[in-house]
Amino acid sequence: MAEEVKSRGKLFVISGPSGAGKGTICSELMKDADPAELCLSISVTTRAPRAGEHDGVHYYFINEEEFEQLRANDGLLEFAEVYGHHYGTPKQKVIDKLNAGIDVILEIEMQGALKVRKTYPGGVFIFILPPSMAELRKRITGRGTETQEAIDYRLSQALSEIAYIDKYDYAVVNGKLDEAVDRVKAIIKAEHSKVTEYIYKMIEQYKEDE
Ligand code: ADP
Ligand code: 5GP
Repeated sequence: MAEEVKSRGKLFVISGPSGAGKGTICSELMKDADPAELCLSISVTTRAPRAGEHDGVHYYFINEEEFEQLRANDGLLEFAEVYGHHYGTPKQKVIDKLNAGIDVILEIEMQGALKVRKTYPGGVFIFILPPSMAELRKRITGRGTETQEAIDYRLSQALSEIAYIDKYDYAVVNGKLDEAVDRVKAIIKAEHSKVTEYIYKMIEQYKEDE
């Protein structure tokens, strides 16, 4: 049967300035996602956990030595230094999921996203924008997870981060949360509706089934 032709999962890369709502959108996406269809990659980071963050859920919290070991052993699909800390995407887990036909979301910043774009051109790159700088400031302050100094630094980087938008395939303005989530879901669906090798294989099967 045509349905048995297995397609590889798709890699979706989500970036945007701190406070735009990437994490919120990703957790909304995962709420009603089928784990056999979509998963969120959990990064490693050397930054300290925030209140309410758990190891293995939000990040794998590791020290600099462990990070360096992972990097040296080619265990990371990409990595970057962000706001003074190291972050990276564990490689093998992503590859295994994609090979099993499961879509993978990476929520990563722009330097890492550019590296993924080079090594994995089949990826789909989505940029999350805040509706305004005033709203970005309100959100990042309202989140209450960073010191004032860290908030100011993150805000100071926002415009130069947004300048990377032309490297992305899609832009989603996160005004109303449910609308932004629907838009990301629509992008995922649209990407799965493209005419690909998988569709050609299906058509070959139609001929065999006839
Ligand atoms: P990021 O992951 O991009 O740094 P978060 O997902 O942590 O951003 O969101 C930053 C803050 O803004 C959080 O307190 C979150 O609850 C809030 N937030 C996210 N999306 C919206 C939205 N559409 N409307 C209002 N507040 C939002
Ligand atoms: P936060 O400290 O707010 O959780 O994340 C800071 C920034 O690091 C965000 O822009 C987030 O997308 C990015 N980030 C999280 N994990 C990774 C990763 O594995 N690789 C890269 N390059 N960036 C990441």
